[in-house]
Amino acid sequence: MKLFAIFGNPVAHSKSPLMHNAVFKALGIKACYTRVLLKDGAKLRDTFLKLNLSGANITVPHKEAAFKACDEVRGFAKKAGVVNTIVKEDNKLIGYNTDADGFLYSIKDFKDIKNILVIGAGGTAKALVQKFLDEGFDVSILNRSEKRLSFFEQSGAKTYSWDNFKADSFDLAVNTTSAGLEDESLPVPDDMADKIISNIKYGADVIYGKKTPFVKLLEKNDIPYKDGSDMLLAQGVLANHLFLGKRYDTQTIQKYMEKVFRY
Ligand code: NDP
Repeated sequence: MKLFAIFGNPVAHSKSPLMHNAVFKALGIKACYTRVLLKDGAKLRDTFLKLNLSGANITVPHKEAAFKACDEVRGFAKKAGVVNTIVKEDNKLIGYNTDADGFLYSIKDFKDIKNILVIGAGGTAKALVQKFLDEGFDVSILNRSEKRLSFFEQSGAKTYSWDNFKADSFDLAVNTTSAGLEDESLPVPDDMADKIISNIKYGADVIYGKKTPFVKLLEKNDIPYKDGSDMLLAQGVLANHLFLGKRYDTQTIQKYMEKVFRY
């Protein structure tokens, strides 16, 4: 029996166990996927090995710690500096990132996007910003504090903290912060949120499973938006391919994972 897990803090909200277990059960794979509440990201590697995991996903706030925990990081994750999927291969921890492609999939219906405002500068933002720059979008990042912005200084993205941000017009604004996950706060102060919302075509929030204050504001202003569920599904399908060595096609995995979203 293979064991997989999601590491996070908080982690109780995560739908990843339901999604992956649905696939294992439907396909008769002897595997189980559980949740691990991990407070200290530095303990990720030891915990992974102690639990004898075959693979894992990593969520808030440990994606940067997961990058450091790996023996080898492959593909886009190497460039982005953040890992959300780990697979054990020959006793080595191999890191990948499936978040960014998952997010791009989720906004495939949004047309004529040229410039994007990313709110937040954490692990998820790192992956999305790198992917947006790779795709040729003009990217601005707005974060509550300045500390994490220094990472993006050489990236080609414009960076702003709450103190020096001047609302411009954007085709898409994405909330990548955890504001609204466990509380009822907007990712920026109310007046700044109003200015942003009145100058965008589309909105997105990476949080799923609840209507965040940011999503409620988008709805109130009739802005077409996506919450984090399509991203969750798409990143989960890609992670499952990595866990199972792409033995099954995307449609099959997606079909079983989607069932979880119906109740
Ligand atoms: P990190 O801890 O790496 O980053 C958190 C970011 O949020 C930082 O920029 C932080 O700002 C900001 N922040 C936190 N609280 C507030 C607040 N109250 N007001 C304003 N800014 C705030 O988190 P991750 O990037 O790993 O995760 C972020 C979110 O993305 C989580 O809610 C997670 O569940 C979600 N997620 C969803 C996925 C999906 O598939 N749908 C996939 C991946 C993540 P500062 O630097 O000032 O501290």
